[in-house]
Amino acid sequence: MFRRIYLDNSATTPVDPDVLAAMMAYLTDKFGNASSIHFFGQEAKAAVDKARHQVAGLINSRPNEIIFTSGGTEANNLAVRGLVERSADKGVRAPHIITSAIEHPAVKSVCEDLQKQGCEVTYLPVYDDGLVRIEDVRNAIRDETILISIMFANNEIGTIQPVHEIGRMVRDLRGEGKKIWFHTDAVQAAGKVSVDVEEIGCDLLSVSAHKIYAPKGVGALYVRRGVRLHSQNIGGRQERGVRGGTESVPLIAAFGTACEIAKDRLDTESLRLTAMRDRFENAVLENIPDSSVNGAIDRRLPNVSNISFRNIEGEGLLINLDMQGIAVSTGSACSSGSLEPSPVIRALGKDDELARGAIRFSFGHLNTDADVERVLDVLPTSVENLRRLNSSSSKKSAG
Ligand SMILES: *Cc1c(COP(=O)(O)O)cnc(C)c1O
Repeated sequence: MFRRIYLDNSATTPVDPDVLAAMMAYLTDKFGNASSIHFFGQEAKAAVDKARHQVAGLINSRPNEIIFTSGGTEANNLAVRGLVERSADKGVRAPHIITSAIEHPAVKSVCEDLQKQGCEVTYLPVYDDGLVRIEDVRNAIRDETILISIMFANNEIGTIQPVHEIGRMVRDLRGEGKKIWFHTDAVQAAGKVSVDVEEIGCDLLSVSAHKIYAPKGVGALYVRRGVRLHSQNIGGRQERGVRGGTESVPLIAAFGTACEIAKDRLDTESLRLTAMRDRFENAVLENIPDSSVNGAIDRRLPNVSNISFRNIEGEGLLINLDMQGIAVSTGSACSSGSLEPSPVIRALGKDDELARGAIRFSFGHLNTDADVERVLDVLPTSVENLRRLNSSSSKKSAG
């Protein structure tokens, strides 16, 4: 029988059966509103409180520093816009933001939007390893800088930015009296590598449930005690008044459970996935000529391998693999469907051809060694066939 293999765990993950079990009661009997005073409300509130502890446990924050949101995108919007608008409330004119050239659209597009409203934004370059340099961050700081937003791990290539160094720098600057805050989008990193807000020293940190085996539509923003944000969702007093709206108790309960599971199996799963990914990647590099890894291989998430194949269109390979039951991605799901080369791969300084031939393989809990074998069986032939087609069609159009 045709067995499908899912190697797109950076785009989203299947819901863990234990996570589903944990949320079911809140879709049925335990339907209360967490703001209600009666028994039904208290039952719902207890579930939200429990989840708040579980999310805090994954990132080593205090439970009351967690604001539940509808996902990573909303958490990023709330962090960046919420902080900028708060500083505007405080009378800061033309605030300056430092971010990177390879942020997720949920940070990048918010920054671009804020530019139209008078914010200054510096988009730091990354080098061929996909990393920003701490000196570049330091040199970009101005008197007006109020926010540095640099992602923990990139969603396309998995590279891990020097967030601990940035956190330390920001803390030192604040020690000298500068009003500057540090946000990091840890949506891809949480549950895969150690994410500890105290170790990082960040003020704001975004996480999302559906990247860690819980349903879509829920996430959280860590807001360090004492950091004030301008609400982006005005309504009731839920989530300390920062994020109004009746809590989605089932989704929040699911998210909490997923965080607890992720924490419990982080060490073993990250070793397992690293071994699987490396075996796959080494075999690809060995067996397929003109293939190369994008981003630093020694500062990456355990589960991601982004490989460029010369002289093919990534989209073509994606479709070819899909017909053989193998699901991969050509970079971020948000920009797929367009044939523009990935801006992330371009930012590494790669030429258009390499950027267009980039494929992201992202492994997850359900993948086994047998999956790797099957993909290694199929991939070299697929690449070869596409290259042959490509060169014969270019000969035809040239002749
Ligand atoms: C998926 C993702 C997001 C968006 O999270 P949603 O919950 O899908 O809104 C933000 N940042 C990164 C790095 C992501 O990978």
